[in-house]
Amino acid sequence: MSAVTVEKTSSNSIEKNESDLNPINNSVETNEVEVKKSKKSKKKKKNQDLKPIEEFYPKGTKYPEGKWINYDPSYYFEKDNHLDRTSKLEERYNTLLEKYEQEWDDMRQAAEIHRRVRSNIQKKITVGMKLIDIVNNIEDATRKFTSTTDITQQPETYKGKGIAFPTGISINDVAAHYTPNRGDETVLKYDDIMKLDFGVHVNGNIIDSAWTTIMPNKQSKSSEENPYNSLVQAVKAATDTGIKAAGIDVRLCDVGEQIQEVMESYEVDLGNGEVLPVRCCRNLCGHNIKPYTIHGGKSVPIVKNEDTTKMEEFEHFAIETFGTTGRGFVYTDGEGSHYAINLDRIPKRITTAPENDFIDKNDKLLKIIWDNFGSLPWCKRYLDKSILANPKLKISLEYYDDLDYLVMAGYIQEYLPLVDIPGSMTAQAEHTILLHSHKKEIVSFGEDY
Ligand code: MN
Ligand code: MN
Repeated sequence: MSAVTVEKTSSNSIEKNESDLNPINNSVETNEVEVKKSKKSKKKKKNQDLKPIEEFYPKGTKYPEGKWINYDPSYYFEKDNHLDRTSKLEERYNTLLEKYEQEWDDMRQAAEIHRRVRSNIQKKITVGMKLIDIVNNIEDATRKFTSTTDITQQPETYKGKGIAFPTGISINDVAAHYTPNRGDETVLKYDDIMKLDFGVHVNGNIIDSAWTTIMPNKQSKSSEENPYNSLVQAVKAATDTGIKAAGIDVRLCDVGEQIQEVMESYEVDLGNGEVLPVRCCRNLCGHNIKPYTIHGGKSVPIVKNEDTTKMEEFEHFAIETFGTTGRGFVYTDGEGSHYAINLDRIPKRITTAPENDFIDKNDKLLKIIWDNFGSLPWCKRYLDKSILANPKLKISLEYYDDLDYLVMAGYIQEYLPLVDIPGSMTAQAEHTILLHSHKKEIVSFGEDY
């Protein structure tokens, strides 16, 4: 059931911690009966694995660096621009190093948590699992690694570290922004194409990374012969291309053009004479990341466009690509789950006054959202938890209509599920990278992807 290809890499500092990466229980192919039988013993082992990350990295130790890659020297040669970037800028790098070192270590910590959380869930995903159980597993593990399991403390702790945004679990024609709301009974089916996209932050330094898994076929119990494997290969190759193209002074349109070229060189051969072209979802894109801000204002296109904005030194980007067998243009569809406060619109009375000052139900709702998530995106399930952790506020779980009002009033931005046409299949691959002066670092890089 592993459509997530494990690629061995030669030199990479992540591998030093290989033993810590793997949860103690390594059985990948457990069937349901075995799972039930060994539930108790498994639980014990699980608890040793999912604990505050500092217990694996005591104070004073550094978190593992991501994968280092060189900038493309020909780019700077052609542009007659910093021929000797490596040597000249290494000097400047050293002086700025101290300033950024803490931020980078925070990102590497978040990445290390991301790798451990995904390694933990990758072993458990099976057909028949409820989507809500998958996202709960990811989020509970993140909470354990970041010591944020006590939701009553969230207003004090959310800025320290924790979940950075709602866990996306988007199936088939849904490309992004789907997460189950409470009561969602959707289960994973045979041949489903699942995009898992989740985020971890440490001191607001966010790791945003995603991968695509194809669920096994009912007859063959394998996903190997699934023709959509080439779609998954396409997004991986396209994202790799985006990472290779990224660099200081590189124009965003140039990154998009290269991504598109690679993505659209793939096709899906259904085997019945029908061959589907792979297209980029042209209205989806990567983005830069700023502290506590998942979309920092720059978009990294995945198709050729006119945006000549340049990437800059020390910037922090999520390079992500979406491939599809549909139209290559996603639209919003379905019930909302993802939200974020609109920082330009939030009234001062909400951000400054203590919570018991509020009587109006919409104000109370906005206040609890602000106190628990600030500028970070959240979903209805997270808000449910915060409401249940604060019974004295007397906010009902039947808040959906009030939330709709806050969206309509402009205080909150809603991010609806993004889908391509029915029957189409979509895939995604995403890494978070850092543009150091002398090299790029794929911070979220791991043994799995
Ligand atoms: Mn993402
Ligand atoms: Mn992203």
